[in-house]
Amino acid sequence: MNPPAQLILTVDYEVFGDGSGQPRSCVLESTERILAIAESRGVPLTLFVEALEFAAMEREPACQTQSDAVRLQLTEALARGHDLQLHLHPQWRGAKLDPAGNWQLDLSRWRIGDLPFHEVAGLLEQGKVWLEELGRQQRPDYRCIAFRAGGWCIQPSALVLAALSDQGFLIDSTVAPGLRNATVGEWSDFRDAPDLPFWNVDQDLTVPVSHGVWEFPILTGRVARLDHLKALRKAGLAKGCQGSYRGPGGAAARLFGRLNRLRQLGTVMLDFSTLPAPQLIEITRQWCERFAGEPASLPLAAIGHSKNFTATSERALSEYLDWVNGQGIVGTTYPDALDLISSG
Ligand SMILES: [Zn+2]
Repeated sequence: MNPPAQLILTVDYEVFGDGSGQPRSCVLESTERILAIAESRGVPLTLFVEALEFAAMEREPACQTQSDAVRLQLTEALARGHDLQLHLHPQWRGAKLDPAGNWQLDLSRWRIGDLPFHEVAGLLEQGKVWLEELGRQQRPDYRCIAFRAGGWCIQPSALVLAALSDQGFLIDSTVAPGLRNATVGEWSDFRDAPDLPFWNVDQDLTVPVSHGVWEFPILTGRVARLDHLKALRKAGLAKGCQGSYRGPGGAAARLFGRLNRLRQLGTVMLDFSTLPAPQLIEITRQWCERFAGEPASLPLAAIGHSKNFTATSERALSEYLDWVNGQGIVGTTYPDALDLISSG
């Protein structure tokens, strides 16, 4: 394949955005299955760790056992050659458990793109410090340099990008070219993303510039609308995981969001939790063909979520990684992919 393509296999490592879902069944167990499949195919996994929620869990005595298990899984993943990078859902800032055992979150903070600069900078610093303190117990040279915004809600992006740059982040991997979420309180709009496999940004994520943080987009592509609909119908939650996709806007906003998604049928992210292998392969093929003329190495960012990684996803990921290996596509991490691009 020309240019040499490199797969960055990523998982958003978190419970649900409204605080529902148990770490054991929605994060730990399914992530272990993803790690095992990735390892058996020689591909490193990047865990986009939603650090605020795990920091909140550590403050709650009732969550100690699961918090310890999360720390152990993350440090062991690093020891096994995988990578950890930062994912943030600001609604977890200062979260507390109520007496009934439910998380009290500030859902008005759903979108990091809506927050003032000092708050964004504070959250990024908190997440990076938490992750680096944990990672360096295992690997003293560990660095948190890549970011993905919770719910893809990074826009308007100027303040977030300035804060990322201030905090020493080198890469953002939030943009899903061509996709839009019009739900009130959860919006994102990447329809104007440039026709590039990666680019630099400083103000608007969709406008390439010659300096600044790198954008490594999540791969997107076109599949048959009926196949997409079938995949949506089959999508479920990880074994034993229960939770709610409730957002900040209530039932009406959720219905609107669902209708809006139906309008976009056929445009999909390279999501190994929800798509069958033939569609994952098709999207990767389209991307490689589209950027065949690029001189540098081609990073391919794929996304999955621990909470909706089902037995069907296991088969899809296994089959997809077998195809990846057969194509000579090598698995990599953000720091290694960036090194290669910078040196080449
Ligand atoms: Zn998330």
